[in-house]
Amino acid sequence: MNVKPVTRPTEADLKQNAVLAGLRCDWATEVIERGEATILATPNPIYAAGCQIREVYFPIDAVLSVVTQMRDGASIEVGTVGREGVSAIPLLLGATTSANESYCQVPGRAVVISSDHFQRMLSAGNEEFRIVLNRFLQAYVNMLGQLAACNGRHSVYERCARWLLLTHDRVNSDTISLTHEYLSMMLGARRSGVTAAAAALQCEGYISYSHGQIKVLDRRGLEGASCECYAVSREQFGPLLGITERSEKKQREDRSYHQEPDPAS
Ligand SMILES: [Zn+2]
Repeated sequence: MNVKPVTRPTEADLKQNAVLAGLRCDWATEVIERGEATILATPNPIYAAGCQIREVYFPIDAVLSVVTQMRDGASIEVGTVGREGVSAIPLLLGATTSANESYCQVPGRAVVISSDHFQRMLSAGNEEFRIVLNRFLQAYVNMLGQLAACNGRHSVYERCARWLLLTHDRVNSDTISLTHEYLSMMLGARRSGVTAAAAALQCEGYISYSHGQIKVLDRRGLEGASCECYAVSREQFGPLLGITERSEKKQREDRSYHQEPDPAS
């Protein structure tokens, strides 16, 4: 596992993940004392297909990608997990191995605990914890269906806008680190098509793109460019991400506060 733990998680870290934020006090203390706050880089492997799940990740501002490998070697994203949920979806369903590979898709922070620790929490029968996990699971399953429909029906341009919006909702920044190669894997599209779609979104002034960094410049414009699938997914994930009109305003304020000064200005 090419992941370097850096420190113990703090209470503030736990508050930033929808599942951990709902933990009762004694469980939160155990996660703080026994868990790790980790910085994930791209492409840190999270799970290998068919292998035992040993660690459970709760993203804070990292985004994880669940990927299926095709026989011709192509990799296609079949799901994503951000601060609305948890990496170990198979454990929620009673399995101990992952059918698909998982990677860190957008670098950032995550809280990690052992699968044994997570299993103990699952089997403790805390109804509130289970309700939050079930809400996440339902939103995740609905997202899988929406992704399948989207990939079969909508253009790369629309899907690219949808993907950027969903990722923008999960990271605490307007800048997303991502290469064209990765984005083409996420969208299950040819790299040339993704390059053309990103260029068109940049031409419209919705994003800027250079050296593996995509910056969201005009969110409303991006929403107009996306297919309907973004709004459907947002309806599912919005409550878990705490997205409301008010929190969106706060997020924009936070982002402008955290942004580095433009050297040109
Ligand atoms: Zn779509």
